[in-house]
Amino acid sequence: MNGMLHQSRRHAARAVMLLALLLFSANSAWAQDRPHVLVIATGGTIASTASGPGLTGDALVSAIPALGKVARLQVEDLAAGGSSGLKRADWARLVRRIRAAFAGDPTLAGIVVTHGTDTLEETAMLLDLVIADARPVVLTGSMRSSDEISADGPANLLEAVRVAADPQARGRGTLVALDGQILAAGDAAKLSTSRTSAFASPNQGALGAVIEDGVRFFQPAGRAGRVYDLSPERIATLPRVDIVLSYFDGDGALADAAVAAGAKGLVVAGFGSGTLAPPMRSTVKALAESGFPVVLSARVASGAVKDSGLWDGKAPAAFARSGFLNPAKARVLLMVHLAAGGTETLQAAFAGR
Ligand code: ASP
Repeated sequence: MNGMLHQSRRHAARAVMLLALLLFSANSAWAQDRPHVLVIATGGTIASTASGPGLTGDALVSAIPALGKVARLQVEDLAAGGSSGLKRADWARLVRRIRAAFAGDPTLAGIVVTHGTDTLEETAMLLDLVIADARPVVLTGSMRSSDEISADGPANLLEAVRVAADPQARGRGTLVALDGQILAAGDAAKLSTSRTSAFASPNQGALGAVIEDGVRFFQPAGRAGRVYDLSPERIATLPRVDIVLSYFDGDGALADAAVAAGAKGLVVAGFGSGTLAPPMRSTVKALAESGFPVVLSARVASGAVKDSGLWDGKAPAAFARSGFLNPAKARVLLMVHLAAGGTETLQAAFAGR
């Protein structure tokens, strides 16, 4: 009787061990199966409560249990304040970390950068210009802080991780994922100060969407323009480029002031498709003819910039039109291009943008 009891206990113990072993191996196989995604937190409203910024990347991620099913996450903090306070040196650290992460880990599927929405469109543009890896870098943020009603941060972060983990996101340059949309870095723009649907791609439309069971791209993979192999040191010291806005009855005084303040290039946000008030026209012409780099963009939220009859013949080499790039994005490209080369290739850098 006693022997039978011992035997059935032994069987039960073996069964429990076997089950534990099965569960463990299934679990670790599952862990290996999920794509590996690095999340780099840089502050912003997504990392804020009503009392201000300060939530770590770990805190953001641990508030979203569903993330564990989508990817195996590695989380790091790079900055913690508002994105209006970020500097070129922060860009340099971010670029260094992204390049090292891709170079050091072939199993990494993609990278998510959580970012304040104030300057998200500029950081997205910068990363698009200097990160060569085909794997996606996906920026996201939020319009509402984490303790507001219907905070949008968790859904946006989950969507960004879905995009970064998806092989279809490769070969598209840097992406922006917010409010269910996937946008190209060169066109993603903040168009509302308050709505959770603040971001849009006013010229190209969304590249894709994040839906309940995955990611859908509407357009084939591809990326615009050259990738600049700038070192983090050069990114930390990108030249000063200022933006001057055209407005009713304005003149060129602010453009001249920018040059006097040490700008190495200027983006002019013209009216309509790039027209300028006569005094500003004269300033722009004089600057570009003297070899000072000037890029003409528009203050209107969408559409390309025309030549606007500024030049009788060929435009000087120091003058380029921004194409569809808005002034903030044209400024980032001008800074990067000036750091990498001369004004002779300026028009080529903006061609096709
Ligand atoms: N102040 C915030 C920022 O860091 C705004 C936001 O994230 O929505 O840009």
